[in-house]
Parts: sequence; C-alpha cells; structure tokens
Amino acid sequence: MRESSEEALRQLRLQQFLGLMLPISVGFLLLYLAFALALRSVALMGGAGAVLLYTVALARSRTLATRGQAERAALLSGYALLVMVALGALFVHFLLAGLLMIPIAGVALVLPYVDPPPLARYMLAAFGVDVWVMVVDGLLPPLFEQPPLGFQRWVFALAVVACVGLTLRMLWVDAVRLRQSLARAEEAVATRDEFLSVASHELKTPLTPLSLKLQTLRREFSAPSSVPSRERSLGHLDMAQRQVKKLVELVDDLLDVSRIGAGQLELHPSRVDLSALVRDVVQRFEPEAARAGCALELESSQPVVGWVDPRRFEQVLDNLLSNALKYGSGKPVRVRLDPQGTHLRLTVRDHGIGIPAEALDRIFHRFERAVSGRHYGGLGLGLYITRRIVEESGGTVVAASEPDQGATFTVELPLGASPVPPGGD
Ligand code: ADP
Repeated sequence: MRESSEEALRQLRLQQFLGLMLPISVGFLLLYLAFALALRSVALMGGAGAVLLYTVALARSRTLATRGQAERAALLSGYALLVMVALGALFVHFLLAGLLMIPIAGVALVLPYVDPPPLARYMLAAFGVDVWVMVVDGLLPPLFEQPPLGFQRWVFALAVVACVGLTLRMLWVDAVRLRQSLARAEEAVATRDEFLSVASHELKTPLTPLSLKLQTLRREFSAPSSVPSRERSLGHLDMAQRQVKKLVELVDDLLDVSRIGAGQLELHPSRVDLSALVRDVVQRFEPEAARAGCALELESSQPVVGWVDPRRFEQVLDNLLSNALKYGSGKPVRVRLDPQGTHLRLTVRDHGIGIPAEALDRIFHRFERAVSGRHYGGLGLGLYITRRIVEESGGTVVAASEPDQGATFTVELPLGASPVPPGGD
C-alpha cells in the first residue's frame, strides 16, 4: 500500500514538473522566434529550433505521464533536454554556463523514474553532451554571429528566473504535500491507537466471563462433596461457547478488514437457494433474539435463488441481524427477502435506538460508530465489511432511520446472470 502511494506521488511529481515546464518552454520558444525574426539572427533561429524540439517532446511526455508511463515520460523529456542543449550549443554561445548545468538537472529529473541500466546510459549521454558544450561553446569560436549583448543579458536573466521559479514552485508544492502527508499520518496513528485500545477492550470483554465460567466449572467438578448438575454444567458450557463465538467473530472481522485493505476479499459465487439460507440464519439467531427479548420474524414472499457467495451473504445477514438485536433489544426485528426483477432485496428492520441522519452514510466506513463505546461495545467494522462484500458483489446497502424509531437496512444484490453450469441444478 505504501509502495502504491509512493508511486502515485512520483507520477504526480512528474506530471507537475511537465505541467510547469511546458509553458516556460513555449515562452522561450516565442521569445527566440520573435527576436530571431526581428534581428534576422540565424543563431536565434537555430536556438528556436532546439527549443521547439524540446517543447514537442515535453508535450508528448506529458501525455505519457498522464497514462501512467512515468519511466518513458521521464526518459523522453530527459533526452529531449540533452538534444536541445547539444543543438542549442551550436547556435547560442552566450548560454554556456546554463547549457552545462541543464544535462545535470536532467539527471536529477530522470533519476527517480529509471532503473540502473537506462539511467547509466542517460548519465553517459549527459556527460557526452557536457563535453560537447565545452568544446563547441567554450573552446571554439561561434559558428554564427551572436545576438546583441543586451538581448543576451535578458535571455540569461529570464532563464535564471525561470529555473529558480520552477525550483521554488516545486519545493513549495512538495513542502505543502509533505505537511499534508504528515497531518494524515498523525491522524492515522491516532486512529490506530484509539482502535488498538477499543479492540483490546472488545477482545477482553468475552474473555472475562469465559474465564469465570471455566473457573466455576472447575470448582464445581473438583469439590469432593458435590456433583454438579448436568443442566447447570451445560448452562456454563453454553455461556462459555457463546463467549468463544464472540471472540472468533471479532478476530474474523479483524482478518476481513486486513484482507479488504490488501485487496484480497475473494468471492466464490455459486447457485444458492437464498430463501433457505436466510431461513437457516434466522433460525440460528432465535436463541440470541430470545436473550435480547426480540421477536424475530421472517417474511419471504416467493422463493429466491441466485448466484452469490453463500458464506459472504450469510456474513452480511449475520452482521445486520446482530446489530438489529444489539441496538433494538426488547423490540421486534423483521427480516424480509424479495426478488426484484434481476435483483434480490434483503431488509432487516428493527425498532431500536435508530441512527442520527448525519451518521447514516458514515457508519458504513471503517471504525465509524454512531454510539458511545461506553453504552454499546463494538469495533465499528461490521457495516464496513458488509458494504465491501455487497459492493464487491455488484450490489448496494443503505440505512434508513429516525432516532428512537428503529433502523432499516436494505441490501440489493444482483441475482447473477451466470448460466447454470452443466450438471448444476
Ligand atoms: P459496531 O456495531 O461494532 O459498532 P458496525 O459497523 O456494525 O459496528 O456498526 C457501526 C455503527 O452503526 C454502530 O456503532 C451503530 O452506531 C450503528 N448501527 C448499526 N446498526 C444499527 C442499528 N440496527 N440500529 C442503530 N444503530 C446501528
């Protein structure tokens, strides 16, 4: 993940450089052309030709960079810079110092984008161009008559201003971006710390009763005088099992979140009798609903069969149902499954505490909660995982609610147009 954001930053930097360089290059081209014509100077006409080649190459590099081909874009603009300098040296002697520096600047530009062998070739070419500039401009007399001294000074001053301006602008943008990344990193660390403290609290919550029940069982069995009743022991074991189930669910959620983060949430769709699946899940939740004092109802108008990943679909319903029982305890909860043309619609409705309007979208994001951790335990991951599974399956999930009036979660999923495989039912 870090690598991809670094990659994005490199791409952005190159695009930004090309975006700034192109107008500067066009500006110099126009300046050279205008004065070449006004002064009838062959030297300036040659200089304009060199800048024209560079400008065309820059435009092409920019296209490559926007297509994500950073290496090709950087090499093209780098070599174009060398060609411009090599050509320019033949015509304009007065820029000797600048012309010597440009190939070195080109190396700095190309460096982050290019692997060692092409980089070595580029550096060799830059060195060759510098030698060429030294000989042609430094040791030999000019091939063409040079423009008047006043013009030379102006061009030199403009070139310096453009270079310094470009460098400062790049540094400024980098500094701003650095500060933004720092703020984001600090925020991420704070979120992680808060998450770690909530997660450890949540993991510990089932461990305490689990440990107590196991101690009680041990005490009852090890007391020499009394034989514990079968019912009582089974009660303790049921309770212990429920706590273990909670722990497994928490760990599964954490694993799912890291899978989603790594882009590894895999779905394995198959043809599923969804009416039967929903019925089974609702039945499985009966004891939990009874403990929460909720009457659990299932409505299913017609049989629904579709192509979904059964385990993940079950996980979606599990999450919605356990939330409905948690946040709507003591009140009825209704599950409804309907076919809607090419889609299925699953709704889970409760009559509990409801969700404030401001939180209706937010709660589908990682670690987002609309209740205080003191009143209701939870990691704020269930709905995030639910949304990702549903979206990955090509569907949608939305929440509707009024505070204190309960909440309705609606999932719509494509029933899947995949043909029934040979031998499939
Ligand atoms: P958790 O329940 O562990 O906090 P979820 O991602 O399942 O995490 O839910 C996120 C938040 O959405 C919850 O903290 C709660 O504020 C809100 N929420 C979810 N389902 C309901 C519901 N049925 N009624 C009221 N609030 C709900």
